[in-house]
Amino acid sequence: MTEGISAQSRTAVVEDPAGGAMVRVENLHRSYGTGASAVHALRGVSFSVPHGELVALKGRSGSGKTTLLNLVGGLDTPDSGSVTVDGTELSGLGEHGLLELRRDRIGFVFQSFGLIPILTAAENVGVPMRLRRTDPKVREERVALLLALVGLADHAGRRPGELSGGQQQRVAIARALANRPALLIADEPTGQLDAETGLAVMELLRAVVRSEGVTALVATHDAALLGLADRVLELGDGGLVEPAPQA
Ligand code: ADP
Ligand code: MG
Repeated sequence: MTEGISAQSRTAVVEDPAGGAMVRVENLHRSYGTGASAVHALRGVSFSVPHGELVALKGRSGSGKTTLLNLVGGLDTPDSGSVTVDGTELSGLGEHGLLELRRDRIGFVFQSFGLIPILTAAENVGVPMRLRRTDPKVREERVALLLALVGLADHAGRRPGELSGGQQQRVAIARALANRPALLIADEPTGQLDAETGLAVMELLRAVVRSEGVTALVATHDAALLGLADRVLELGDGGLVEPAPQA
C-alpha cells in the first residue's frame, strides 16, 4: 500500500538529506500591511527539516514563529519564496490541493488545544478520519490505539471540559496523528500548561516522533523544552539568528 512517490522521496533522503528533506523553506518573505505601517514578519528565511527529526523553533514573542508555521502548514501563502513539504511545492497547489495536504499529510497542534467541546475525546480524535471518510471500523480501532498511545484509554468518553489542560493537549496530539501525517506542526503546544505538564506533553511529542516515524516542527519559547529537540532554529528580526546546522 506504499505510495510510490513518498517511498521514492524517503529513499532519496538517505542519499541526499538536503534535497529529500521533509520540509524545505527557501528565502521566505511575509509582510502584513503596506507602506509605513507594514510589518515584515519574515525577511528571507531558509532552512530544511530532515525526515524523522523533531525541530524546535524558538524566538521571542512576535519573532515570526506562528507566521512561519502557518506558511509551512499551508494555512497562509508567502509574499515570495518557497515551501516544500514531503516533496510537494506548496505554491503549485490550489486551494483544494492545500486542503488535501493539510488533511492528509500534516497534523496540527495549537496552544489552545482546539478540541470541539461537545464531542468526547474519542470523537475528537476521530474527526480527521471522518473528513477523509475512513471506514468506521478502521476509524474506531485507530482512535482506541491513539488514545492508548497518549495515555488516555480510560478517558475516551470524556468531553474536553472534563479533562485537564494536559489531557486536552494529549487528545489534540492523538487527533493530529489520526491520518498518519508525514509532518506534525505544533505552535507553542505547552503555552497554556504549567511547567511540569508542559514537559510531559513535550516528552510525549518526542516519543511519538520516534514511534510513529513522523517529523515535527514545534514552536516554543520554553527553554526547558528545547533540550528534547534534535535541533533548534532561532528566529529574530524576521530571520534565523544562526544558520541551521548542516544535516
Ligand atoms: P510569534 O508567533 O513568534 O509570536 P508572529 O508570527 O505571530 O510571531 O508575529 C510576527 C510579527 O507579525 C509580529 O510583529 C506580529 O505583530 C505581526 N503579525 C502577525 N500576524 C499578523 C496579522 N494578521 N496582521 C498584522 N500583523 C501581524
Ligand atoms: Mg506565535
